[in-house]
Amino acid sequence: MRQDSPKFESNNPVDFVIVGAGAAGGVIAKELSTAGFNVVVLEQGPYLKESDFDHDEIKITRQHALTNDHKRQPNTFRKTEKQTAKLQPAVGYGRVVGGGTVHFTGNYWRFHEIDFVEASRLGPIAGTGFADWPITYADLEPYYTKVEWEIGVSGLAGSSPFDPWRSKPYPVPPLPVKSSGILAERGARKLGWHAYPAPMAILSKPHNGRNACVHCGFCISFGCEVGAKSSSLATVIRVAEKTGRCEIRPESYVRKIETDKSGRATGVIYYDAKGVETLQKAKAVVVCANGAETPRLLLMSKSNLFPHGLANSSGVVGRHLMFNGGASAGGLFEHPLNEYKSVVVTRVIHDFYNSDPARGFYGGGGIDTRMGRAPIGFGLSGLPKDAPTWGSEYKRMLRDYYTRTTFATGHTTSLPLATNNISLDPTVKDAWGLPAVRVTYRDHADDMKIRRFFRDRCKELLEAAGASKVWTSPVEEQQRAVHLLGTCRMGNDPKASVINKDHRAHDVPNLFISDGSSFVTSGRGQPTCTIQALAFRAADQIIRLAKSGDIDSSI
Ligand SMILES: Cc1cc2nc3c(=O)[nH]c(=O)nc-3n(C[C@H](O)[C@H](O)[C@H](O)COP(=O)(O)OP(=O)(O)OC[C@H]3O[C@@H](n4cnc5c(N)ncnc54)[C@H](O)[C@@H]3O)c2cc1C
Ligand code: SF4
Repeated sequence: MRQDSPKFESNNPVDFVIVGAGAAGGVIAKELSTAGFNVVVLEQGPYLKESDFDHDEIKITRQHALTNDHKRQPNTFRKTEKQTAKLQPAVGYGRVVGGGTVHFTGNYWRFHEIDFVEASRLGPIAGTGFADWPITYADLEPYYTKVEWEIGVSGLAGSSPFDPWRSKPYPVPPLPVKSSGILAERGARKLGWHAYPAPMAILSKPHNGRNACVHCGFCISFGCEVGAKSSSLATVIRVAEKTGRCEIRPESYVRKIETDKSGRATGVIYYDAKGVETLQKAKAVVVCANGAETPRLLLMSKSNLFPHGLANSSGVVGRHLMFNGGASAGGLFEHPLNEYKSVVVTRVIHDFYNSDPARGFYGGGGIDTRMGRAPIGFGLSGLPKDAPTWGSEYKRMLRDYYTRTTFATGHTTSLPLATNNISLDPTVKDAWGLPAVRVTYRDHADDMKIRRFFRDRCKELLEAAGASKVWTSPVEEQQRAVHLLGTCRMGNDPKASVINKDHRAHDVPNLFISDGSSFVTSGRGQPTCTIQALAFRAADQIIRLAKSGDIDSSI
């Protein structure tokens, strides 16, 4: 935290209070504060610095140094609304200033034009809430360009024949190709597919005063010690604080959005690090707490005026939860690949991005090649399923496979179902006594089919690339996710959506929502580029409304 960052009085309404300093929250904070507004950002997690990050795999993956800890904030899970939910981890996200962008992999795909209008092109899918977005790719394109340049994304414009049009190239060139990337190129060439340099929110060259990647290899799940990963923390949050108008208040866990008798938001109540409750007053509230915590907060904010939860006259808050699907194949190669080095992904294949009616089911996605596991993770889940898990043969296999394995991984669509949702668990509470996130989720039959389709393409790719052994696992229904999308969807119809295309809640004129919950459809995986482009666009709309006196006459 900057020494000179302002300290606002909680009793004195600031222009905007933002809940959550993650992918979207960081962007909104930067845009509103640089536009001249006073902003307080309340983040439940700690404010860590680059010097706090290290390569301790136990601390990161087992002790939740950067992510939500299910012991303190439990989840419950059930497949259908008829079942009683069981206690089990179901949602994972970054719980620090910077949110999920601190530890994420950095895959940074734009949506394609079709993603915004797919429902009208393909027609309705029975039993789902499959719908067009109220905005198009053309509406968002300037913001995709803006986010790529502001945070720093490496890539090569025009290298994929499937990419949507763009108004500007990437600010920095692609990262150096890894062995897995060369193999993806080799396999794709043989199959007539196209492997192209992965767009990554990681700097290949210095940009905006930040360092380039030093290829340390502890990337997925870890914070970057040199600031090369383009997290909100390393980018927009710094700019926001430099304005002198943005206070980042860490370890501030918001439990309720307060409203007055007229139904306007007046601020938020949060617990500080000592558990003391404070009301931070604000003229407007922007919720950026992600696709699980944003609907939870709205549901916890019910009152006499909003008996079903805040901004929930439609009954849609929490519904249409989408995870993105995945499937992969492992491949063992003759020569060392040394995939444990550097960033996770360097090549992507989008030949199967579009849904193809000839397949007989809905869905599409992309494939990348990666190891994606730190050493302990590889020891626990990197070997084929039939490998021993103990003894000398296990050790021999670890030695043999660790340097010579790569995985081809498919990232796929999820359909929006009203029955897949986030709600408040009626009995399980977190360490603060608040109701736990209850996840109800069952993959649609087409989501399962597209995952199996991608698993088979992943296997084909590794075989074509020359793997001496290829293995796959059965595709099972998902019960846990880190892509949390769709639970406060945007739309033109207040009866069927939570926010309008300006990200303003239909029911509450000074409440805005921007994060993964705003999505109408899931895209094909890697949602963060779109989450942050939407956040830049949302901020523009909020600034326009605020300056015209439409949010609060005193802002
Ligand atoms: C291991 C891993 C790898 C990933 N890799 C990729 C990738 O390569 N590409 C990609 O596109 N996506 C990736 N993701 C997903 C990505 O991290 C998320 O999609 C993205 O961060 C979501 O952005 P958001 O703004 O919706 O929310 P978040 O980034 O989750 O931000 C929400 C913030 O709000 C805070 N918050 C929540 N509730 C409260 C409350 N009540 N009070 C105060 N603060 C609160 C949270 O602590 C968090 O900091 C990955 C995720 C994981 C776990
Ligand atoms: S691989 Fe590069 S971007 Fe990733 S954590 Fe290491 S230095 Fe940072």
